[in-house]
Amino acid sequence: MSGFVYSEKPIEIVEGDGPYLYDDQGTEYLDMGASYACVPLGHGHDVVTDTIETQLSRLTYVQGSYPVAVRTQLYETLGQVAPGDIEKVWLCNSGTEANEAALKFARAATGDTKIVATTQGFHGRTMGALSATWKDKYKTPYGPLLDDVEFVPYGDEEAIVEAVDDQTAAVIVEPIQGEGGINPASTDFMRTIRDVTTEANAALILDEVQTGLGRTGTLWACERTSVVPDILTSAKGLGNGLPIGATLCRDWIAEEYGDHASTFSGNPLISAAAQATISTIIDDELPAHAAEVGAYLQKQLETEVGNRVRDIRGEGLMLGVVVKRGANRILQELAINYGVLALPAGRTVVRLLPPLTIDKNHADHVVDALGEIID
Ligand SMILES: *Cc1c(COP(=O)(O)O)cnc(C)c1O
Repeated sequence: MSGFVYSEKPIEIVEGDGPYLYDDQGTEYLDMGASYACVPLGHGHDVVTDTIETQLSRLTYVQGSYPVAVRTQLYETLGQVAPGDIEKVWLCNSGTEANEAALKFARAATGDTKIVATTQGFHGRTMGALSATWKDKYKTPYGPLLDDVEFVPYGDEEAIVEAVDDQTAAVIVEPIQGEGGINPASTDFMRTIRDVTTEANAALILDEVQTGLGRTGTLWACERTSVVPDILTSAKGLGNGLPIGATLCRDWIAEEYGDHASTFSGNPLISAAAQATISTIIDDELPAHAAEVGAYLQKQLETEVGNRVRDIRGEGLMLGVVVKRGANRILQELAINYGVLALPAGRTVVRLLPPLTIDKNHADHVVDALGEIID
């Protein structure tokens, strides 16, 4: 059954270099999707590649009960860069696992069961994370899922106040919804969630699997709102293309998390890749770079196509262009006629999640292309 999930794409990618991908014919594409934000440093980044090669020849795996320096270093780094007083780190292999752990930890630490999630939210496809995911099409054939999940409209402060009670273990929310259509939460909504969860002794889980690691102009999207969650989840770009997820927790969560583990958690090879990725993002000041290039891209899009589209929204290099007709037709034209690969988010949003390393010339190319395509 391998490969049955994805419909065949007409382009066969065989190589990557920085923000560019190459197909089997040697055609060059500007990668404005970074395969769902998984390659924040671009393809084949020297530092990450060298680090992986060195670690590959030293040690790729040893069971988690032996301390390994690269993993210990990654724990420390993630603890340091986590927002506020978050210091404890649990590692896994994907975004859905990071959220799965977050939900389990929240239940264990609070002794409560109810999970509050949001409309249009996306948290992954394993049973727990899927239960907190909004769209029925992801869930319908797999039920019954967790039954103690309540959805509130994303952005609705009154609804969140009403939904969170003393049975609530956690609220799980994305600071900017990705799959749901690039919907940024208002600062007021985030602060209200923080207030009501604190009051109810429930955990606030921020899913930064897509927004994290500098993409929105700050290392974590929550910095924009000054809201510090109890649990923050990261994945996608954390290994610059290698599989890793992280569940970052405040002490009160980590003190009472139950018994949870994963065989490949923090294996040396992936830990080395993640350490190199985070160090490079910070050393090269990529969050600030993403803020600058992202603001430029958004402004140029406004000027060029603003009056022909429904909306242009997002932060930093996580942008959505809401078009009047199907996004897929535009994405096809972008790829075939302009050599630009981007992503959909639902039927009408063209989603841009490029490597954080792109410059204004790359932005101009995309703006020119969209200017010619969108009518
Ligand atoms: C992609 C994504 C996930 C799931 O990550 P996987 O690695 O595919 O399991 C969870 N939350 C958000 C916000 C995502 O964008």
